[in-house]
Amino acid sequence: MKVTISKDQLTELEIIAKQAFPNEACALLIGHGESVSDLCITQVKPAKNVTKCDSKDSFEIDPLVYFSVAREVRGTENKVIGVWHSHPNGLSKPSDADSRHSLEPSWVWLITALDSCDAKAETKAYQAELANPSIFQPCEIIFS
Ligand SMILES: [Zn+2]
Repeated sequence: MKVTISKDQLTELEIIAKQAFPNEACALLIGHGESVSDLCITQVKPAKNVTKCDSKDSFEIDPLVYFSVAREVRGTENKVIGVWHSHPNGLSKPSDADSRHSLEPSWVWLITALDSCDAKAETKAYQAELANPSIFQPCEIIFS
């Protein structure tokens, strides 16, 4: 399982993660590809974290951003293929809350872990299973 992203986009996400520290930051991932092996992120859309829980360990994409992105990609080859968020606790794997909130089969989940705002960030990718989106499989990140 592989996902392609440009180094610039990843750098942009890691900067956003540092700016939001110690809170979680989030973004929608736009791209194309039907199968797991050829998913390609073409655009990242940072969104406000509107969680009603503690934003230090949870996130919710601003639904207004979701709707505007969905409108924008309608009729194009692109679609929302996943979500990115940061883990200010330094752990780059999906949390239990992430599993509970993962509803979209085959979405890519990019997670940037950092444990301080000036630490080196580490980003990992996972994919929600088709049959059971609450289960994540590790995914390789390829730079375009
Ligand atoms: Zn998380």
